Amino acid sequence: MVIDNTFEEVKAQVEKVGKYLDIDPGLIEVLKRPSRELTVNFPVKMDDGKIEVFTGYRVQHSLARGPTKGGIRYHPDVGIDEVRALAMLMTWKCAVVNLPYGGAKGGVRIDVKQYSKDELERVTRRFTEEISNVIGPQKDIPAPDMYTNAQTMAWIMDTYSMKKGYSVPDVVTGKPIEVGGSAGRDEATSRGIMYTVEEAAKVKGISPDGARVAIQGYGNVGWHAARLLHDELGCKIVALSDSTGGVMNKQGLDPVKVHEHKMRTGTVMEYPKSVCISNEELLELDCEILVPAALDNVINESNAENIKAQIVAEGANGPTTVSADKVLFEKDILVIPDILANAGGVTVSYFEWVQSRLQFFWSVEEVKEKLKEIMTRSFSRVFSTSQSDDLDMRAAAYVLAMKDVVRAIELRGIFP
Ligand code: NAD
Repeated sequence: MVIDNTFEEVKAQVEKVGKYLDIDPGLIEVLKRPSRELTVNFPVKMDDGKIEVFTGYRVQHSLARGPTKGGIRYHPDVGIDEVRALAMLMTWKCAVVNLPYGGAKGGVRIDVKQYSKDELERVTRRFTEEISNVIGPQKDIPAPDMYTNAQTMAWIMDTYSMKKGYSVPDVVTGKPIEVGGSAGRDEATSRGIMYTVEEAAKVKGISPDGARVAIQGYGNVGWHAARLLHDELGCKIVALSDSTGGVMNKQGLDPVKVHEHKMRTGTVMEYPKSVCISNEELLELDCEILVPAALDNVINESNAENIKAQIVAEGANGPTTVSADKVLFEKDILVIPDILANAGGVTVSYFEWVQSRLQFFWSVEEVKEKLKEIMTRSFSRVFSTSQSDDLDMRAAAYVLAMKDVVRAIELRGIFP
């Protein structure tokens, strides 16, 4: 069974897993289509007084397991099919870690680099107003995604709250701590990666202490993953990269020092006591653990045969192509699929939503403990299914996720 991430492909994969699970063909049709889609075109006044019209989307894929959850991205190329595919992936991601949510995604077609902060605030507030009938703490809860951040969420929360007449912090997650954000959200995705890597190492018989790790991408996910794998599991970080290229030291790199160097110079390149390598070389390095944490489709037909890591933990969404997946499975490389490996982010978003609803906040230690429990249990569920059904880890994750969503639909029944 093979999996990929464009809308046509996510639909094809629903068909495949659906047939494998012998799901009623009518229910497969339900899962292939988002429940609700909203496209909005809205005007915003620019700083110079001119009016510009923007297009935005909010897609809710499945309402079966609870309110929907998913990020809002700002990108000039964002389109409805991309948002549909990402909303569906969120349904599977939430189900695989057993959060009481369905999947959603949103987007605005905008190149944020072309606009002032005031303009971005007006775009965000107007977009929030346009979608305010479909979002809500018990309906659909947005979060940050590409080119949106905690500030964007604070504007959304404020706009929604103004309309209601009282503060509604649980309408978004990924908010600043000062307005109800959760402790531990910044590193949550990477902490989730660490917990799943720890479990994967056990089943592969690898001691994490001293295990060699290569990480592609040194942004939010890559940097925190390097730090946590190094500090908490004792891994040796042998290579790191960003969009400009990579650095390698077989004796191990200090993630904090590389981060400081990147903050100072804008790149990981030319970090002292390391040799420069390309992003392509990094992926093929001799190491135990590989963490792609930047782009999609980087492990593909051209390099899958050369991957030497025994564990691939997908920090990025969709870093492995369908054909590469097959090769890695045949090479007995354990892939922790994106919908499991990077689900720590949405899990702590769920914690933030719970805390915002209760107005009762947890310590960072409580967040870590609860996250560990969920990630460890989810890994174990996916791994056991992969073993019992002779599936690769990605297929096993999809099988479990779809089974749970279908069960929820069956139990609730088809209205009327
Ligand atoms: P980010 O923008 O903070 O960092 C991205 C990193 O990738 C940067 O270091 C950038 O230099 C690097 N990069 C860009 N082009 C590259 C190239 N050609 N080769 C190598 N590196 C390159 O993004 P992020 O939040 O760290 O997200 C990274 C990936 O993880 C994305 O696929 C994202 O969808 C996924 N993800 C992120 C989260 C989260 O909580 N941030 C959650 C789930 C999934």
